[in-house]
Amino acid sequence: MKVLRKIIEIDEEKCDGCGQCVPSCTEGAIQIVDGKAKIVADILCDGLGACLGECPMGALKVIEREADEFDEEAVEKHLAETEKVQIEEPALACGCPSTKIQTFVLPESVFDANKPADRKPESSLSHWPVKIRLVPPTAPFLKGADLLVLADCVPVAFLTLHRDFLKGRAVGFVIKFMTRQKKEVFDMEKQTFSVPNISCGHCVMSIKNELTELKGVKIVEGDPESKNVTVEWEDPATVETIKDKLVEINYPDS
Ligand code: SF4
Ligand code: SF4
Repeated sequence: MKVLRKIIEIDEEKCDGCGQCVPSCTEGAIQIVDGKAKIVADILCDGLGACLGECPMGALKVIEREADEFDEEAVEKHLAETEKVQIEEPALACGCPSTKIQTFVLPESVFDANKPADRKPESSLSHWPVKIRLVPPTAPFLKGADLLVLADCVPVAFLTLHRDFLKGRAVGFVIKFMTRQKKEVFDMEKQTFSVPNISCGHCVMSIKNELTELKGVKIVEGDPESKNVTVEWEDPATVETIKDKLVEINYPDS
């Protein structure tokens, strides 16, 4: 049954098919098809927007529209099917060779222990990729693994990283996580505007539709009772452009 609810919208004009949004959607709702991100099915998208910050092109936004209700059971079924496919063909949806899941065979420890002291140190890296965002939870090398999570400064700080930390562990780097989180924490802005002209839910929806058209505006929430609209945005949107838009659409803030 279709209901009016939040759901992700992908602007195909802006999408360059980089695939960065795919692993961020734990519901598996996004796939790259013919070089563009697409929603596999409305029932798989919860509309919570966990993927929003992943798109370098600003192609993702949460909108409100008539859609089939989010279905957790369908998500589980879909993920189980996807896992099966990944085990058979373990490459990420964007198709980039660097995201192909690979497991390396390392030298036996007995060989390692007996090697001459002047021999070049062996790598202890047992898999690829290592960037956490590129590693699907179904990657075979994660099964039962002791997971080592590293910040990007560690390889520089520890000369013996491979020997002392990496050996026998699956590894994940949080480079992108750190930059994204930093960007989200420091660059995202949020403000609640008091909009006296709001009289009902339709007013809120009109405001949402108009404000989310502004580049940089990520989330718009409104409440007809309190007549408040809360907006989260980043560059190039500003508080002024948001206020100007509210005036333009006859819902000025007070
Ligand atoms: S809103 Fe949530 S469920 Fe929908 S595509 Fe984005 S991350 Fe996936
Ligand atoms: S991250 Fe953005 S540009 Fe890249 S595939 Fe997803 S929607 Fe398209």
